[in-house]
Amino acid sequence: MSSIAENLERVRDEIATACAHAGRSRDSVALMAVSKTHPAEAVLEAIAAGQKLFGENRVQEFAAKREGIIDLQGAQFHLIGPLQSNKTTRAAELFDAFDALDSLKIAERLNATCATLNKRLGVFIEVKLSHEESKHGLSEAELPALLEAVARLPQLQLRGLMTVPPFTEDPEGARPYFARLRALRDANVAQHPTLTELSMGMSHDFRVAIEEGSTTVRVGTAIFGKRETL
Ligand SMILES: *Cc1c(COP(=O)(O)O)cnc(C)c1O
Repeated sequence: MSSIAENLERVRDEIATACAHAGRSRDSVALMAVSKTHPAEAVLEAIAAGQKLFGENRVQEFAAKREGIIDLQGAQFHLIGPLQSNKTTRAAELFDAFDALDSLKIAERLNATCATLNKRLGVFIEVKLSHEESKHGLSEAELPALLEAVARLPQLQLRGLMTVPPFTEDPEGARPYFARLRALRDANVAQHPTLTELSMGMSHDFRVAIEEGSTTVRVGTAIFGKRETL
């Protein structure tokens, strides 16, 4: 089995290759290491290998893990999983950004907590582009209204859009969803100039996502190995 450091190096190389292939500069794509279900030791190993950006799915899980990470060394953590309204305070305290925003109620609660913390929280709006029952995110039709509302909340900084396409064996199956998210970003960036980012692409399809304009790929399995749960 290869180490986390070796996996990170391999994924970084693959991102560089995908960028070159797509005619994009290497620094236009950030690598987010998705450390959900893995212990603090795994995060520390990645930090030691120079990783700065992490994604976690659950507030509770990260709260416990965070205690085992004494020295962040500048690492940033984004919440990339759904957030319940009774956990917004804890989430606002713990995370640098929330990448799966899909409701005004949650946005308003985060804004209120951030005001008391004197903190500005980055947000990505999660858009659900398929008709799958199980997926989180809001529909395309609901996006303009949430963008307008979030733009008026001073403690939240609108950064981009996020999506998780339905899983297909062939990563090409995700391409139309990635292209659609980019089109939505392009259609709204004039009105919302900070809406520049696209968080899309996971372990098995990040190469396709980079070809379609991803600015952050969220990679778990290819860095930390298979998860027992989730
Ligand atoms: C788990 C997860 C990932 C990482 O998935 P891998 O297939 O392990 O790379 C990315 N994004 C979200 C929202 C996730 O929940």
